[in-house]
Amino acid sequence: MIAANSESAAIDHFVSPPEGGTVAVSGPDDRVKLSYAQEETASPASSAFDMIVKLGNNKVDVYRYRDPDTGRSGYFDGKGYRLGQYLLRNPVPDARRTSGFGTRRHPVLGYSRMHAGVDWAAPIGTPIYAAADGVVKSVGKHGGDGKMTVIDHGHGYESAYSHQSRFADGIKAGVTVHQGEVIGYVGKSGLVTGPHLHYAMSVNGRKVDPMQVHFIREGRLSGTALAKFEKAVAADGDKAHTEAGV
Ligand SMILES: [Zn+2]
Repeated sequence: MIAANSESAAIDHFVSPPEGGTVAVSGPDDRVKLSYAQEETASPASSAFDMIVKLGNNKVDVYRYRDPDTGRSGYFDGKGYRLGQYLLRNPVPDARRTSGFGTRRHPVLGYSRMHAGVDWAAPIGTPIYAAADGVVKSVGKHGGDGKMTVIDHGHGYESAYSHQSRFADGIKAGVTVHQGEVIGYVGKSGLVTGPHLHYAMSVNGRKVDPMQVHFIREGRLSGTALAKFEKAVAADGDKAHTEAGV
């Protein structure tokens, strides 16, 4: 009941190739491992298969699941949240992560404060990719953030890209962008010591660590659909996991 090309279908669902490229960019140490049960005969009760996605040090269990009520398949995490597109954690290829999310001593201001994003150091002019599909919410100068672009990905998810040297042509509020599309270029505008991208992510207005947020959650199963899903996941958990590198 699982299509022969389900691995590539799964990757297509989550990741689009960057502009002009054929290989999807994710984090520097990401691994996707699929493990699933082949079923010779379709059974309406059992329809989950487990896709273990290892992203850096984090392991995310992803289930492709056919909702018995609607007959439609989708991707879900273990708690029954529908998973949409994967968010690029490194929107600048080959950049070096110089500062993570959390409280730190500010390199310019000199006192400790929350660093609500991740810094990716790269030469001025290095292209910056949109982390996922979305609509540009704002483009402009923003105090210490310098030249900043904010993208609304829907479902409460927003990504912000600060300290740019310049914005890509055609990037303005209201424009639709796709994952991997060049939206601007690394710079050192704003309150910085050197060229880097300050990459920030917020969910429902709350700043979160971009290294810890992997997928856009598009809502959750509820009621009997959730109960059936949990049952299918529990049944799946009894199976031995075999890992296939992708
Ligand atoms: Zn920063």
